[in-house]
Amino acid sequence: MSIINFGSINIDYVHRVPHFPQPGETLAATSFEKGLGGKGANQSIAIARANGDIKHFGQIGADDGWVLDILKNAGVDTGKVAVTDTPTGHAIIYVDDSGENNIVLNGGANQTFTNDAIEAALADATASDWLLFQNETNNIDHALNVAQKNGMKIAYAAAPFDAQRAASIIPHVDLIAVNEIEAQQLAQASGKPIDQLECDYVLVTKGEKGAELRTPSGTFTSTSFKVDAIDTTGAGDTFLGYFLAEFDKGTDPERALKIASAASAIQVTRLGAASAIPTYDEVQTFLE
Ligand code: ATP
Repeated sequence: MSIINFGSINIDYVHRVPHFPQPGETLAATSFEKGLGGKGANQSIAIARANGDIKHFGQIGADDGWVLDILKNAGVDTGKVAVTDTPTGHAIIYVDDSGENNIVLNGGANQTFTNDAIEAALADATASDWLLFQNETNNIDHALNVAQKNGMKIAYAAAPFDAQRAASIIPHVDLIAVNEIEAQQLAQASGKPIDQLECDYVLVTKGEKGAELRTPSGTFTSTSFKVDAIDTTGAGDTFLGYFLAEFDKGTDPERALKIASAASAIQVTRLGAASAIPTYDEVQTFLE
């Protein structure tokens, strides 16, 4: 059983700045870091660290082989990542002294998926495989159609959130993952309480308050572990990646939620997103 993640790959250019630049101002950054980002890539790395069978289906531009090396080193199968003429997607991020951020995103190669590329990437998928996707790639509807034809199980991380879009996609997926705010917006947009959505599995993460999974056989909850959080970027991606990997292995929902909570509790105690995701051994030790 594999999880095929039709997901974004971004390069994050993170600049620390004394304040956000004013119109016309040239401002010196106090520090700079370049790294792998994108919700898709983060989730693939989380699944790989959870020892899940993960194939990333994505696109990058030329000369960014280092991005693939990070994914491969984490245990992600990158055989379905194509190099295109369009540059790799990127985010220019400013973080000020108060920790507030300001982001300009360029979708780049994440926004140029053709029907042919999608069909080729999903050609060998079967009913025992999951398709995972988010809202950072184009042509999602075609991927959904192809996945449905192949009988795949489908998981949707509805971020960056668009309530109308999420409401229209939900009837076609088996699992949707949202955070607490998104869950409220979704209930408003669909005109239904979250527990009446037409979707078998609804995962709602609630930051420090824990998480909830609605299933056809009842609702399961987990409480968050008490930790000193210093950077919650990527906590949701870590939770979903770990949860889906466990769920795919057949772990019961309660245990899968607990493992995902432990993984994200460790992740928020470290700076960074993908690089902060713990290994399976670290999660096991944390739970002992
Ligand atoms: P992000 O957008 O920052 O990636 P999110 O809004 O998608 O996050 P959250 O619900 O904030 O997701 O967090 C996901 C999970 O991470 C929570 O369900 C919880 O298990 C864990 N988590 C987040 N913040 C904390 C915290 N302060 N302490 C412990 N666990 C946390």
